[in-house]
Amino acid sequence: MRVSDIVLISLLIFLSQCTSSPLNRKQVTLYSEGEMASQGDSIYRAIKESTPMSAKSETVDYVNCVAENLILGLDDTAKRKFIWEITTFKDPQINAFALPGGKIGVYEGLLGVADNQHQLAAVIAHEIGHVLAQHGNERASQAAIRNLGVIAAQALGVSESTVKAIDTSAQIGLLLPFSRIQESEADQIGLQLMAETGFDPLESVVLWQKMTGNKSRRAPELLSTHPSPRSRIETLQTLMSSAEQTWVDSRKSGKNPDCIFVN
Ligand SMILES: [Zn+2]
Repeated sequence: MRVSDIVLISLLIFLSQCTSSPLNRKQVTLYSEGEMASQGDSIYRAIKESTPMSAKSETVDYVNCVAENLILGLDDTAKRKFIWEITTFKDPQINAFALPGGKIGVYEGLLGVADNQHQLAAVIAHEIGHVLAQHGNERASQAAIRNLGVIAAQALGVSESTVKAIDTSAQIGLLLPFSRIQESEADQIGLQLMAETGFDPLESVVLWQKMTGNKSRRAPELLSTHPSPRSRIETLQTLMSSAEQTWVDSRKSGKNPDCIFVN
């Protein structure tokens, strides 16, 4: 068997590793959840070693309160499958992140923009959405497939310029649209989670509008990792009336989070 055949067969095996996101979108996830969680853990440890944690206990309590209310609203599988952990970092970045396995980070700077519990919930719920939908696994898998595609093309003896074209189109065609899809998916999961746990979903739109209109010298880092706020707002608005109804129902059933905002 030639090298090219082995590469192509591996590619087909890899492509057959399909799973479905919580919104029933087909995904290729090549890595086990355990592998992804342990990668998430080591990145989280490295960030914790290089970035000081918030020293303001009221701020930490506030962020934990919002995150805990959201996590309590997850179904049993999601509660069991991930080891959720939230850390507030002493850093002026207007940003937050989520790592595979359930490790979430919030930077103090975010609280200067997300200045009530609902807006902070919008960001954290979105990050939880990325974890639930295994977006880290999907991104890592796409990168692996792209590399394999390039290796396959090289093994097949195609010209250097064609290999380059495959590489570029794979990046544009596979990675970029997928990451937009991932963002929209995390928004939808996050919006639903906010509403189900008693946070006002409409505040997610207010937050993104503020992010877009932020005229300060420092653009929010969140926008560099979370592009196209305008289309994001449009998507959120199309889902808003149903989310608001869910919110009203959750409040009636006693879900009224009361996390006191402290910056
Ligand atoms: Zn995101």
